[in-house]
Amino acid sequence: MDASLPQTDPRYSIVGSNLALTGKQRELLGLAEELGPRFAERAERYDREASFPFENYAELRAAGLLGLCVPEKFGGLGADLKTYSLVSATLGKYCGATALTFNMHACSTLWPGVLADDLDMTPAQRAEHEGHRVVHFERVVRQGAVYAQPFSEGSAAAAGKAPFGTTAAKVDGGWLVNGKKIFASLAGAANYYGVLCTEDKPQLSMRDTLYLAVPGDAPGLTITGDWDPLGMRGTVSRTLVFKDVFVPDEGTMMPRGVYFQAASRWPHMFTTLSPTYLGIAIAAYEFTVRYLRGEVPGMPPVKRRMYPTKQIAVAEMWIRLEQTRALFLRMLEDARVDPPKDARLRAYAAQYTIMENANELCRLAIRTCGGQSMLKSLPLERLYRDSRCGALMLPWTAELCLDRIGREALYEPGEED
Ligand SMILES: Cc1cc2nc3c(=O)[nH]c(=O)nc-3n(C[C@H](O)[C@H](O)[C@H](O)COP(=O)(O)OP(=O)(O)OC[C@H]3O[C@@H](n4cnc5c(N)ncnc54)[C@H](O)[C@@H]3O)c2cc1C
Repeated sequence: MDASLPQTDPRYSIVGSNLALTGKQRELLGLAEELGPRFAERAERYDREASFPFENYAELRAAGLLGLCVPEKFGGLGADLKTYSLVSATLGKYCGATALTFNMHACSTLWPGVLADDLDMTPAQRAEHEGHRVVHFERVVRQGAVYAQPFSEGSAAAAGKAPFGTTAAKVDGGWLVNGKKIFASLAGAANYYGVLCTEDKPQLSMRDTLYLAVPGDAPGLTITGDWDPLGMRGTVSRTLVFKDVFVPDEGTMMPRGVYFQAASRWPHMFTTLSPTYLGIAIAAYEFTVRYLRGEVPGMPPVKRRMYPTKQIAVAEMWIRLEQTRALFLRMLEDARVDPPKDARLRAYAAQYTIMENANELCRLAIRTCGGQSMLKSLPLERLYRDSRCGALMLPWTAELCLDRIGREALYEPGEED
């Protein structure tokens, strides 16, 4: 907890006390904490309307946070995966939908940025990548452009088990994209959609995955379907349809074959959705403490903290939150190219734990606080609904994390029965 806060302040910081942080990390966490309360005020409206948090994005842009993961040499704030995750979890405490969509944007710069620097490329590929990524980064840093990351198609592709059915055919000066993406967060709000697709060849292969930035106003791109889900309603994750959409060569966000390499060598790239949900778990805990202390704004100042059952419930929540946070922070230390097997398995375990515990903490919060706490006038029922979405996010859903841990713990590469 921040030393400047009074001892009774129930605020639970994502990093806790005594964790070694760089000056830049402290500054960025302070910035996120500064913006957060206004995001929390607006969260109810975005949730009710299932509308995109444009005002929050205007504030993120003004604060320079759209360039959070753009390397410093391209004018950004140069956050690595750890720094990004700490900032993201902080935003998640205040507005889940903003944090989740910010993940899609930030990773569109993190992956072609510091992650790509760790990957093998030929000198020609490296030169090509430098030329293309400068275009993306300038759009973000100078023009305040927002990127989405629509990968899901409703097939085995987003789970990493089959080639994407959306294809890109090479044409003069660029690519022609055809296909469909479901659950495209930031639909209609993004300036660019970073689409994963497969190079159109007689035999589609995951090795030929391409990562292309499709402009939001490109002819042939349409947004379809309604959006009225249980939770994370402010993400506006509608369907994108691509019909002969032309993407110029400079729209290539990673050279041919490099996304496939990233997915196998930099597994922590898929952990970046989990900080949002850790933030939601913290918000549920903080709400419970405030509620039981009779300190929730707009509620009568009735205290409930004197009942032993409430104290035990809060103790259970605290323990679960500490377990979750400890694994999260350890996972961030592990994040690197070619991590050893135990770090890879721990990343799955962390993702699983955060996603499952976020929902469990919200469930405990409602049970403990009681009926009035789940009224729509309070944030807890939204946190509960939002928290349900985490375990469904591909490619590392809770089920697939179990699947991967079980298989990779029992089989070494190349082993079969
Ligand atoms: C709020 C929200 C925002 C989202 N935003 C985005 C976004 O911006 N970009 C994006 O690309 N996607 C996004 N998604 C989609 C998400 O990542 C998943 O792709 C989607 O939830 C999968 O739904 P489905 O019904 O198609 O799942 P299915 O593919 O039918 O899978 C159902 C479950 O089966 C399991 N499963 C799936 N494939 C396999 C397999 N091969 N082997 C074993 N088990 C498997 C998984 O546990 C999965 O949860 C979002 C989803 C939500 C809820």
